[in-house]
Amino acid sequence: MEKTETWTIIKVLEWTTGYFAKNGVDAPRLAAEILLAHSLQKRRLDLYLQHDKPLLPGELAAYRALIKRRAAREPLAYITGFREFWSMDLAVNPAVLIPRPETECLVEAALELLPSAESSGPRRVLDLGTGSGALILAIARERPGHQYTASDTSRDALAAARANAQTHGFSLDFAEGPWFAPFPPFPAGPGFHLVVSNPPYIRSADIPTLMPEVRDYEPRQALDGGPDGLAAYREILSAAWGHVLPGGHVALEVGPGQEEDVSAIAEAAGKYAPPAFRQDLAGITRVVVFALLP
Ligand code: GLN
Repeated sequence: MEKTETWTIIKVLEWTTGYFAKNGVDAPRLAAEILLAHSLQKRRLDLYLQHDKPLLPGELAAYRALIKRRAAREPLAYITGFREFWSMDLAVNPAVLIPRPETECLVEAALELLPSAESSGPRRVLDLGTGSGALILAIARERPGHQYTASDTSRDALAAARANAQTHGFSLDFAEGPWFAPFPPFPAGPGFHLVVSNPPYIRSADIPTLMPEVRDYEPRQALDGGPDGLAAYREILSAAWGHVLPGGHVALEVGPGQEEDVSAIAEAAGKYAPPAFRQDLAGITRVVVFALLP
C-alpha cells in the first residue's frame, strides 16, 4: 500500500484480497471484508454502501496491523475476538479452541437425548473440556431449565466460558480440572444424566501437518489426543460410567474415522451398551453415544 495514494474502501479491499491470496489465506475477500468492518466498527454491508469513502491515515494504519496478523495466518476469530456458533456470537481467545461447525452434530445428538425440563424435570448435564463453552451454551439455549456444569483443565478457558455464559444470560456451574477429576463419582456425587465432550483427538504426530491457523495458534491442549489420538477417550470412558446416572448417556465428538476405535475402548470398559453413531451432512461420523449398561 502506497501511503500517498487515496485509499478508498473498495480499493483497500481489492488490494487486501490480492495480498491475502498471495499469502495462502483462505477466502481472502471475505477475510478482507470482515477485518475491515471489524477495524472500522461497521457492518460488512456498510463497506459496500460507502465503498468510495477514503480511509483516514489512522484507519488505514489500524487495518494494516490486522492484515499483517491474518497474513501471518492468525485465525480470523482470534483477531476479531468472536466466532459464531449455533447462532450465538461467542468470545474466543487463544486459550480456547475456535468452535467448529461440525460440533453442531454433537449439539443435535445431545438435544435428542435431553427432554425439555418441563417434561422431565431438571436434569444434570456436564460438558468436559468446555473451552469457549460453545457446546454447553448451545444445549442450554435449546433446553432451558436443566442444571448445566462445564469443566475445563484450563483456567483461562473457564474464564472465557464464564464470560460467554454471562453475555448470553445463562447460569452454569463451572469446575476446574481434568475430565472427571473435579467430581466425586455417583452415588457420593449427584451423578449426571448426560455427559458431553468434544475432546482433543488429533494424533500428536499429525499436529505439524495441520494448517498454520490451527497448528500455530490454537491451544495444543485442545487438539493433541496423544500418540494414537485416543488418549482423551480412554480417560473419559474409563471414568464416565462412575458419574452417569442409571439410564444416562455419554455423547462424544470423534475425529473422522475414529468411531470404531472409540467404540472398542468403551466395549473394553465393560460398562456401556453398544453405541449409536451420528453423521454430519457429508456422511462422516462425528458423534458416538453410549448408554450405560443396566
Ligand atoms: N468444547 C469446546 C468446543 O467444542 C472445546 C473443545 C476442545 O477444546 N477440544 O468447541
